[in-house]
Order: sequence, then C-alpha cells, then structure tokens
Amino acid sequence: MAENRKVVEPHGCIVCGRVYEILVVYTPAGELLDCTPLTPGGRVIPDARRPLVACDRHPESQVQAALEHHYPGAAQDEDEEKD
Ligand SMILES: [Zn+2]
Repeated sequence: MAENRKVVEPHGCIVCGRVYEILVVYTPAGELLDCTPLTPGGRVIPDARRPLVACDRHPESQVQAALEHHYPGAAQDEDEEKD
C-alpha cells in the first residue's frame, strides 16, 4: 500500500497574513488528510479542501469573516433555500 505523504508548507494566517509552517498530510491520492501547525501561536482551521491557518489570538468570528472573504461560500454549512 502507498503511504500518506507528509510535507511542511508555509501558510499565511487567513486574518493577518502571518506565515506559519504547517505539517500537512496528504493521502496517496493527493487528498488533504490532516494538518498541524509547527510554528507556535497558530491553529489550523478545519477544511476538507485546503490547509488553513489562523493565529490563536484571533476570535472565531474574525476567522470566519476572513474565511468568507477569501473563500465565499466555502464556510457555510447552513442551508439556504431559495424559491
Ligand atoms: Zn493572524
């Protein structure tokens, strides 16, 4: 069996742009499996498609607002029904 691939990637905080080193794990098929911040002070934002990071000091509301700004629609999990 093929093994998961681990790479260290620099990613900027989604709110302020501060760069964090992130250990990202990909499946043999290239899908994002897991990511862990290596730089202190950062945390990973759960996302199935891409590694996202934010500083610990940003409140959740600020992170969600930035997420919505950068990736419109990606952070929504509530159903919006339009007739
Ligand atoms: Zn930040």
